[in-house]
Amino acid sequence: MKTIKRVVLIGIDGGGTFFEQTDTPNIDRIFKNGVVSRRTLTEIPTISAECWGSMLHGVDCKRHGLTNSIADTTPYPFDSPYPSVFRVIRAAMPEAKLASFCDWNSINIGIIEDGIGVYKYHAKDYDLIDPAIDYINKNDFTLLYFQFDSVDHAGHEYGYGSTEHLEMITKNDGYIGRVVEAIEKRGWLEDTLIMVEADHGGTPGGSHGGATDAEKYVSFFATGGNVRNAELTDMMVRDTPSIILYVLGIDQPLSWMGHVPVGMFPDCMENLPRPEGTPVPGMIVEREAMEEKGEYTTVFADFEPLIYLSFEKNEELPKGTKMHGKLYQVDGVMGHGMRFDDGYLTMSCPSLKESFSLMGWIRPDFCVNEGIVAATGSDCQVEDKLSGFCFSVAAEYIRLRGKAVSKDDLLSVDRIISAQMAEKWMFVALSVDFQNGKLNMSVNFEEFDSYNIPKDMHFQVGTLLYIGQDEKLDKANRLAAVLDDVCLCRKVLDNADLVRLKEYYKVPDVC
Ligand SMILES: [Zn+2]
Repeated sequence: MKTIKRVVLIGIDGGGTFFEQTDTPNIDRIFKNGVVSRRTLTEIPTISAECWGSMLHGVDCKRHGLTNSIADTTPYPFDSPYPSVFRVIRAAMPEAKLASFCDWNSINIGIIEDGIGVYKYHAKDYDLIDPAIDYINKNDFTLLYFQFDSVDHAGHEYGYGSTEHLEMITKNDGYIGRVVEAIEKRGWLEDTLIMVEADHGGTPGGSHGGATDAEKYVSFFATGGNVRNAELTDMMVRDTPSIILYVLGIDQPLSWMGHVPVGMFPDCMENLPRPEGTPVPGMIVEREAMEEKGEYTTVFADFEPLIYLSFEKNEELPKGTKMHGKLYQVDGVMGHGMRFDDGYLTMSCPSLKESFSLMGWIRPDFCVNEGIVAATGSDCQVEDKLSGFCFSVAAEYIRLRGKAVSKDDLLSVDRIISAQMAEKWMFVALSVDFQNGKLNMSVNFEEFDSYNIPKDMHFQVGTLLYIGQDEKLDKANRLAAVLDDVCLCRKVLDNADLVRLKEYYKVPDVC
């Protein structure tokens, strides 16, 4: 292959796939003979730190663990098993000149490691260009990275795809033109790989974080060296650093999940399997799925199950259950479970005027907002509008909230869980005993914690029970988790029932 000596990666925050909806004369000219990928999949949630983290660290967001608030304040750990592309290049090329010019300074603070000789510069994007050209004129760099933020600001303020947002993309196109002009003046066009990529898109309403096409797909452009003139169809944002290492002839860390997209280079193998990323001991514990024998409702017939979801086969969902959005069958605790981050279920809601219990297995993602596991009644997240009940899970707590009928009582119980439980299966059981005024909560078969609730209260409920959402259908409350063996039953479970469940799932005493 033609030797590449330098890489320029220009990141357009919030650019999504909106480039083709507006004038981009520089992009059109620069990448005329290069590759484009118009459906590059980014991380979900489609939030800056999650996405930039994957673009620079080569893994999914739950592995690098970055969120905006972490990146704002916390230097990226130097000993992370998921190093940035800067750190990998530094290890292979001690003398290499590496630089990062960012508008959103959190990238320089919390995403690119300190102490590895990366020249970091921060200013508004329009004020980055002159200092960057000065840097180009004085340094024969190996990796030069930019992040421009004004497109994302325009998207938040006016909506993604709005005139203002699109005009800002055109303005950013001008910055790209000036950077490439400086490279050209140095005579480096032949042996420099130039890439432009967005971290995420956004909605017409001016938000992002969700999993709609407008949010989760971004455009990617590349040219230089042996890059083909082609359109790529299978690319993820997390593949970006693999490309950088590939052209520089550096092996990528085994812990990375990305790969060079098929079709980008003539000499790069086709049909590479997408690596899963090597799990790091102690960080991710997967339980082998046990065989589903279909015995649950027989073994626990005395629970008087009202709804039981084994998630074995879609056609085995209880009668009247509707699937909405995209639900994915994945490995569960027994047989299969179901991923809910892009969809939800509705079914007719049994009476919750009498006491009941709700239990099931949950494996929340690492970077997770409060996601709704089960709800009935509207707008569960807004306290003064809440009617009905809502059971939710976040990285650090599980929460049950309910609104009493003909009383002002709002029931709200939080149980703090360890963030270490992220990515691991946990069994949660709730029993609501209206008759005796008790609410009981158990995690991982530990004895129930008991809370007092008003005696003889019962919940206002809607006609539908939602699994993975509430009636508001707010993307922010989507359940970034896998569920398995969810059961709503009439019996008020006690500690002896937990022992039986623990045996059924063959859970060892120390886990
Ligand atoms: Zn962003």
